[in-house]
Amino acid sequence: MELMEKIVSFCKRRGFIFPSSEIYGGFGSGYDFGPLGVEMKNNIKRLWWDEMTKFHENIVGLDAAILMSPKVWEASGHLSAGFADELLECKECHKRFRLDEIVNPKSKRSPQGRQGGGRVGVQNPNCPDCGGELTQPRKFNLMMKTFVGPVEDEASITYLRAETCQGIYMNYENVLSSMRLKIPFGICQIGKAFRNEITPKDFIYRTREFEQMEMQWFCHKKETEKWFDFWKKERMKWYLNLGIKKENIRFREHKKEELAHYAQKAVDIEYKFPFASPAGRQGWKEIEGIHDRGDWDLSNHSKFSGKDLKYFNDETKEKYFLHIIETSAGVDRSLLAFLIDAYEEVKGARTKTTEAVKETEIVLHLDKKLAPIKVAVLPLVKNKEELVKKSKEIYNLLKFHFVCQYDEVGSIGRRYRRQDEIGTPFCVTVDFDTLKQDDVTVRDRDTMKQERIKTEGLFQFFRENLTK
Ligand code: ATP
Repeated sequence: MELMEKIVSFCKRRGFIFPSSEIYGGFGSGYDFGPLGVEMKNNIKRLWWDEMTKFHENIVGLDAAILMSPKVWEASGHLSAGFADELLECKECHKRFRLDEIVNPKSKRSPQGRQGGGRVGVQNPNCPDCGGELTQPRKFNLMMKTFVGPVEDEASITYLRAETCQGIYMNYENVLSSMRLKIPFGICQIGKAFRNEITPKDFIYRTREFEQMEMQWFCHKKETEKWFDFWKKERMKWYLNLGIKKENIRFREHKKEELAHYAQKAVDIEYKFPFASPAGRQGWKEIEGIHDRGDWDLSNHSKFSGKDLKYFNDETKEKYFLHIIETSAGVDRSLLAFLIDAYEEVKGARTKTTEAVKETEIVLHLDKKLAPIKVAVLPLVKNKEELVKKSKEIYNLLKFHFVCQYDEVGSIGRRYRRQDEIGTPFCVTVDFDTLKQDDVTVRDRDTMKQERIKTEGLFQFFRENLTK
């Protein structure tokens, strides 16, 4: 089985990710996050949010509405210029493809015709699936249309946002004045975005509904280069600090012809996924973009709304449009990268002291901060009342501070494997010595080292070991 197939089946089996509306045969290649998936997703979002708002005193948060005036999307270029992909259809098997998937997999998608790099140089490509003849490319707008209110007419049309950053531009003035910010400063937001993708695929890598974590950094024009480099490094550090292996992550700078209309400069952070586009890009795919957007957004919204969105610098007494450096990450894509990077299969048992459950054991070496369950509390056996009682006491003591799981089903070896598989960093085993000495065995997922710890010291132990 290919690695990606294994990951998809693992995610379903262990409660990370399920196909959407599965009992009706699925829907639009969408996915739902299960009990462990949502814990992990919340961890990613919390870590990003803390990184932005706690470690940078000049970044503030925002949570703007998904539905906005359609004028926003007119001004941003998503409607008039066509936030569009070029679509081709196979005349034989009727499968649909994006032009850039087939002939120019590196091209950047952006508003204003998401090709950025313009038309492709390859003539009459064939269907990558059946070799059949393809239709001529035609533009396909990716905005998800909807109606507000009870009447479905032209006047009530609006769109589900295709990117969260427009909500930030809409509130730029409100935030600036209510928080009394001075440049440089940032506004960040996490939220859902929607794109009517022609070919949602590669599990949760490309879906029609996804979540973004975006930060817009407002600065003086003269400082854009400095801040672009700063944010580029900061964002790479974030992934590395959370355990992504160095050899699986890289920067890719966009060539001039790939740049979106608003971008002066753009760099993607790419992860080496175990899948490639039909034209074979070796798996390197974008998980985050860092963009120098110039003054495109604020000046354009000024022009369209008639509202002066210039910044007044009360030290120099100058008035000008601020320039924006954007960091735009996908929650779903980074979750997938973290999962794949952490996934290890071990042939046979990892230890000789407990029996192998299967021919191959899975260990998810997730960073402790990302792991959905932090501590599993396990009575050595379930048919000894005192052990169960003590285990529940410990579970109740820890559960308010860390996400814990109580598990008494199966042999202790089997339970360790189950926790290794979902990436739980520590297991606490309550045995007969616990009843005499009031200490427990704490087992480390990665080293399998076991140490005895007094129950009264458990909270302190986990506080120290789960946060560093
Ligand atoms: P791609 O070229 O892969 O479609 P993009 O360049 O259009 O991506 P951006 O507009 O820069 O993407 O969006 C920023 C981030 O939002 C991406 O790096 C990605 O993590 C996430 N993202 C964008 N589109 C999708 C999607 N369809 N499914 C999941 N995540 C997405």
